[in-house]
Amino acid sequence: MNEDRETRLAEDHAESLVAALTALELKVVEVQREIRRLRNYARGLEEENQRLRAMVAEAVSGGQGQERLRLFYDQGYHVCPGQFGRVRGSQGCLFCLSFLEKS
Ligand SMILES: [Zn+2]
Repeated sequence: MNEDRETRLAEDHAESLVAALTALELKVVEVQREIRRLRNYARGLEEENQRLRAMVAEAVSGGQGQERLRLFYDQGYHVCPGQFGRVRGSQGCLFCLSFLEKS
């Protein structure tokens, strides 16, 4: 009798352990998928960043540099040497403004 109960208890434990491991495996798969998604997202941002930097560099080396720099600044990007090509958003940047005045 007692042995039967112990065997049943052991089986129950084994079952809940298997269930916990299965849940854990699903979680790992989910986390791996999220990491892949974030890597792709980061890669996309890096590519966009490179594209924007190239655009800014071209604008600076091309004619009407001053006008184009002003345009980039107005579109929300830094044109100051320290933050060149980075997103400025809606915040003004004194370095950019002074850079635009000088050039
Ligand atoms: Zn700036």
